Amino acid sequence: MKKPDRQRQSFYSGIVSAVIFFGAGLLCGCGNTDRQESREFIAMGTYITLTACGSSAGEGLAAAEEKITALEKLWSVNDENSEIYKANRSGGEAVHLHKETAGLLRSALETAEKTGGAFDPTVYPLVEAWGFNSHEYRIPEDDEIKRLLENVGYRKIKLEGETLRLPAGVRIDLGAVGKGYAGDAAAALLKKAGINSALLNIGGNVQAVGRKPDGNKWIIGIRNPFDKGGLAGIIEAENTAVITSGGYERCFTGSDGRTYHHIIDPETGRPAESGLASVTVIAESGEYADSLSTALFVMGQEKAAAYWRNLGTAEPAKETDAGEKPFDMIIITNSGELFITEGVSGNFTPADDYTGSLTVLEK
Ligand code: FAD
Ligand code: MG
Repeated sequence: MKKPDRQRQSFYSGIVSAVIFFGAGLLCGCGNTDRQESREFIAMGTYITLTACGSSAGEGLAAAEEKITALEKLWSVNDENSEIYKANRSGGEAVHLHKETAGLLRSALETAEKTGGAFDPTVYPLVEAWGFNSHEYRIPEDDEIKRLLENVGYRKIKLEGETLRLPAGVRIDLGAVGKGYAGDAAAALLKKAGINSALLNIGGNVQAVGRKPDGNKWIIGIRNPFDKGGLAGIIEAENTAVITSGGYERCFTGSDGRTYHHIIDPETGRPAESGLASVTVIAESGEYADSLSTALFVMGQEKAAAYWRNLGTAEPAKETDAGEKPFDMIIITNSGELFITEGVSGNFTPADDYTGSLTVLEK
């Protein structure tokens, strides 16, 4: 590991952080011949802003919005017509899933296996018990947590082809991966419509399609978890997903004065206390980056670094020989230290006013 000198160039003039601001006019700066269009809407419990440049921008964005809302209908834990809602109340009966739901669940199960259960879609009963679904926050009793944990464990999920069987009491939630998948699907539709320059912000999950129309990479802000509205740094990106899991947004202060956030450690049934404030994963696939950002947050810095060393690569995104997908990450610990992987170090610039130390993780 090495500690580099901070790059002190000021990148901030004229830059828009996709994570924080939605100044679409500044985002694209399409040329005279190109049309730039944006769509802002609420879906999947979050604000979504899609911006695309190109003559078919309107058509591509309409298809992308339609797709995201269709996926929400399939996967919402609250919509009684959704597949997940029905599966969660199936009482052990077989449920037939749409092929996209089955595909996403299968890949979520693979991530659960690879991350040693740090990512686990069956953690939902605990998410509910803490009030993160209803926003009626509470601290469950130890006995309640113990009882609910009996129904947690991704191996309880039986998925054969498109047939799902959940034992009574086991409930699932694709909230840690659905927005990432939606970003991939939206990006694919935009590309299909002939768009090769777009920036998609799905509640802070950012998907960069191509480069900016001027040929430069997109610039995406990484939130400073300790300063609402502030940045820890910026990253330059093209054709990639930049996805953050943090404990600073969906959280509440309990009657004991402590802060509790929505990322649950499946082992304890409590908000993960891994020493991290946020984990940003940079990978070609939004779905992969989304699931990993949640899992690595649960793991903590050391285990996350070991996971990256085992599976990641600093090479451009491609399948490695081991069949694993490479990724990079930016970790911010509760004490403000920044850890970034070597593959992203050339594209990351810490904010001028960010005072935490910066360490580059090497293989
Ligand atoms: P992530 O880290 O990506 O995910 C954290 C979420 O995943 C938690 O909120 C919890 O649901 C779940 N989770 C917690 N711990 C784990 C774990 N260890 N392993 C796996 N999963 C875990 N929110 C609303 O308030 N209202 C809505 O109507 C609503 N509808 C939604 C519909 C869909 C289809 C999806 C995908 C999400 C919806 N959400 C809704 C959820 C909301 O957008 C979540 O806050 C979001 O999905 C969490 O994403 P994140 O990027 O903040 O954190
Ligand atoms: Mg996630």
